[in-house]
Amino acid sequence: MALMCRKKDPIWINIDDPTKKFTLHHQCRFTENIKETPYKSVNTLKRDGGWLQVDSLRVAEKLYENSYSNYSFANHC
Ligand SMILES: [Zn+2]
Repeated sequence: MALMCRKKDPIWINIDDPTKKFTLHHQCRFTENIKETPYKSVNTLKRDGGWLQVDSLRVAEKLYENSYSNYSFANHC
C-alpha cells in the first residue's frame, strides 16, 4: 500500500457581501489579524460576510461556483 502524503494547504476565504468580493488568502497580514467583528464572523457568516477556512483550493473554487459566482474572485496571496 502506498504511503499517502496529505499536504495540508489551508486557505482563508474573505467573503464580503457589501462589495461582493470573494478573496482567497494563504497567509498574510490580513490572515494574521482575523477576528470577529460586529458584522463579520470567523467560520460563519454574518450580515457583511466573514472569513471561512477551507482545506484546499478545490474546495474554495467549488464554494465560489456553487454560491458566489456573482461575486468578483480574487487571489490575494
Ligand atoms: Zn492575503
